[in-house]
Amino acid sequence: MSQARPLEGRSALVTGGGRGIGAAVARSLVEAGAAVTVSARSKDQIEAVATELREQGHQAFAVACDVAQPDQVQALYDEAKRLMGKVDILVNNAGIAASAPLARETLEQWNRIFAVNVTGVFLCSRAAIGDMVSEGWGRIVNVASVAGKAGAPYISTYVASKHAVVGFTRAVATEVAKKGVTVNAVCPGYVDTEMSDQTVGTITGKTGMAEKEARAVLENMSPQGRIFTSEEVAAQVLHLCMPLSAGVNGQSLVLDGGGFQA
Ligand code: NDP
Repeated sequence: MSQARPLEGRSALVTGGGRGIGAAVARSLVEAGAAVTVSARSKDQIEAVATELREQGHQAFAVACDVAQPDQVQALYDEAKRLMGKVDILVNNAGIAASAPLARETLEQWNRIFAVNVTGVFLCSRAAIGDMVSEGWGRIVNVASVAGKAGAPYISTYVASKHAVVGFTRAVATEVAKKGVTVNAVCPGYVDTEMSDQTVGTITGKTGMAEKEARAVLENMSPQGRIFTSEEVAAQVLHLCMPLSAGVNGQSLVLDGGGFQA
């Protein structure tokens, strides 16, 4: 293990790794020396990320999976293990968002968001935890949201799902605390990805605001008056995976410019 490549010899699985935050996380993990398998449903996107990383000389693979499907998650974990030899780091990043006032929220949307954001985290973590405990080393990082720490209007389902992720993180962290495994979450505010573009689209559609104005609504959610970058989130994920972060466990690290303080 060198200073420049502190994760040399480690292998990581990143869900939702085809674009946005997950792709940035994959890039930062390989830069730190880890092998990485990126996963999502869109094969073309994960193949593009894995190809980009391989062309830079890194060890990278792509395996398609819907994290809401138990059989697919087990197959993903088995394939990642076959390709990389082991999975030391799991980044549960795959997630979806949608908005509606509670009175108009549908059971279908509630179930779908929970299936991906919560059940997906459970299934992937369950698949990986046994080997991490046997190895005596492991890192699970869950990409929650500042919506996992505080409420906000029109996104009650998303907020509930991310609070569930934070609660799950805390519980599993205590369960494996003596086993060399840490489980943490990162909780970003709005990040410049397709997911936020979708939110901007919803605001313009519902209010008639111009796109720039709608974007300013998201920017002003943060005291820093800005939307964050995927690279900023990836830097926090990487920090939690570092060997010297072994004592950080069960935490939910907020990255929102200071809006939520606890
Ligand atoms: P994107 O929509 O850009 O990317 C989401 C990724 O998750 C894609 O690779 C997508 O690929 C994958 N994904 C979605 N559904 C599934 C599924 N069922 N199975 C497997 N993969 C899936 O979003 P972001 O990068 O912005 O979001 C990443 C995470 O960060 C999410 O958990 C989100 O909740 C969280 N977050 C995002 C914030 C933001 O403002 N953008 C703020 C705070 C948290 P595919 O559709 O091909 O499966």
